Formats: sequence, C-alpha cells, structure tokens
Amino acid sequence: MGEANKLSGGCLCGAVRFTAFPETHNYTACHCDMCTKVSGGTAYLSLHCGPTVKIEDDRQIGIYSSSDWAERHFCKNCGTPLFYKFKKTGEYGISVGVFDNSDDFEMVTQYFTDTKPAHYSFSNETKNMTRAEVFAAFAPSNDGAANNV
Ligand SMILES: [Zn+2]
Ligand SMILES: [Zn+2]
Repeated sequence: MGEANKLSGGCLCGAVRFTAFPETHNYTACHCDMCTKVSGGTAYLSLHCGPTVKIEDDRQIGIYSSSDWAERHFCKNCGTPLFYKFKKTGEYGISVGVFDNSDDFEMVTQYFTDTKPAHYSFSNETKNMTRAEVFAAFAPSNDGAANNV
C-alpha cells in the first residue's frame, strides 16, 4: 500500500465514497451463483485491494453476510454493490465499476467458469478456474457447506 497506488471511487448516489490502495489493476470476474445475483446480471467483477480501504462515511453501507467467510457491502440508499470482504483477513474485493477511473484495469482471471450461465461469455484472454479449482486454491475447508465464494 502507498499513496502511489491510491484510487478513489463511490456508489451511484454518492453517499458512499472510498479510497483504496490496490497493488495491481488486474481483476477477477466471478461467475458463482452468489456473484451473479449480487451483480444483477453477469459475473461480479472485482479488484483485490487488501485490508486498507478508507471510507468517508460508512453510515450508508449495508452489510450482508453471504457465507461463512465473506460479506457483501452495498449502498443502502442506491443499492450499488460495493465490496466483497473476507471476514477472516479483512481484505476487500472492490467492484470494478465503482472506481472513478478504471481505464487501465485488466481482467486476468475468471472464477467458476463451469457454473457460468451459457447465455453470455467474455472474450478477454484470461486464466479460467472451475468451481473445484477455486475451492482447491482458496477455501479454508471444502466441506460442501458453502457452494459459493
Ligand atoms: Zn449510493
Ligand atoms: Zn463469486
């Protein structure tokens, strides 16, 4: 984290404004069932930003605990999906679309490609991981209790 990495963003209505310090602008598209719901139509595109995110006024942030290990944060006023936050590490994945400027962002990975709805696909050249591959790489335990990330 450093000032050089500083990026700002906010929700549609402007009630939530934040600053984040991502180490890279390479982001992931997740096609799991939860992310498809949360995004309202397609994959959830998120940039990993580490645990340090400065929020100007968090009173408008709603928090939904979507699994044992993560929460979804959204604006209570306008509904914009803002953050995916890991409970254990406090690290954030931030919705790509809420940054003020994402011109140099690049999609490099896709998760849950085997559960993606068949009616759309991205043409980006990415590393593609199935549900099983994502769980093998990241899940604390693969006990079948959680079907999504
Ligand atoms: Zn808002
Ligand atoms: Zn997902």
